[in-house]
Amino acid sequence: MKELVGNQEQREIDKLVDRILKDLGNPEPPLSLPQVRQLLALDLTYYSSTDVGPLTEFAHRIRVAGKQLAARPSLLLDVVKKAKLSGLWMPDNRQIFIDQEVPKPKHRWIEAHEITHSFIPWHADFLLGDDEMTLDPTCHETIEAEANFGAGKLLFLGNQFSREARDYNPSFKSISALKNRFGNTLTSTFWRFVEDRDPGAAVFGLISIHPRHPHVGARVDGSPIHHFVTSGGFRTRFPAIGPLDVYELVRRNCTWNSKGPVVGGHDVLLDGAGTPVRFVLDGFSNTYQVLTYGIAL
Ligand SMILES: [Zn+2]
Repeated sequence: MKELVGNQEQREIDKLVDRILKDLGNPEPPLSLPQVRQLLALDLTYYSSTDVGPLTEFAHRIRVAGKQLAARPSLLLDVVKKAKLSGLWMPDNRQIFIDQEVPKPKHRWIEAHEITHSFIPWHADFLLGDDEMTLDPTCHETIEAEANFGAGKLLFLGNQFSREARDYNPSFKSISALKNRFGNTLTSTFWRFVEDRDPGAAVFGLISIHPRHPHVGARVDGSPIHHFVTSGGFRTRFPAIGPLDVYELVRRNCTWNSKGPVVGGHDVLLDGAGTPVRFVLDGFSNTYQVLTYGIAL
């Protein structure tokens, strides 16, 4: 599988994040984003998607996922409104804009994403607008993938999260504890725990609807899957296993409870050689989605 961010770029972004953390005196989590902005001399302004006034004078230069937002000035305001931008990075006056209509728990990720645009030197010339798609960690647009990579590194303090995660059991309880410690969302903590706790182990993370209560996590496209995250070890050993195979495990091992711990027990996936491998399942419903963690025994 092709990585979204090149190896060299990963190393450079790692170095930039480490430098910021060092300049802040290697703080304990959770990372204070206002402190990061102060260090980098960045300004944060909230605007409202129902009143895009503050953006008007820049609108003709905004790029979303690599494309110019609009070419014709007369349509700009309309286009900016319709673009459903959640955040923006404005290099001229080192300003970050966040749409205050976006639910509060998402602000931290957006802010970290825009901060990352500001400190990656090769992003400096772009005026970047972000919507739901570019803020998704699986976005394929290079610049946006880099900003999401950097946001993750920043919010989880470089390698500190993976170092600490190794001291925790591979379970949902550990993910909740680390969520509180690092002050990030359950979803982003879950994601990181699957990928980074032990990249050599075969681990998956599935974010899906609730099989017994399909309105929990229901998607407009009808798919039961929101996200499928895997460790490097999983991709090597289970090259043919996709999100629907794993959803089948969730479906078979799910209780009728609509929230809290809802998936448990053991189940089996076939590895690349066709050998059955047992996985321990641990899934949790936050009433919006079901997040299931699975690790090979
Ligand atoms: Zn962006």
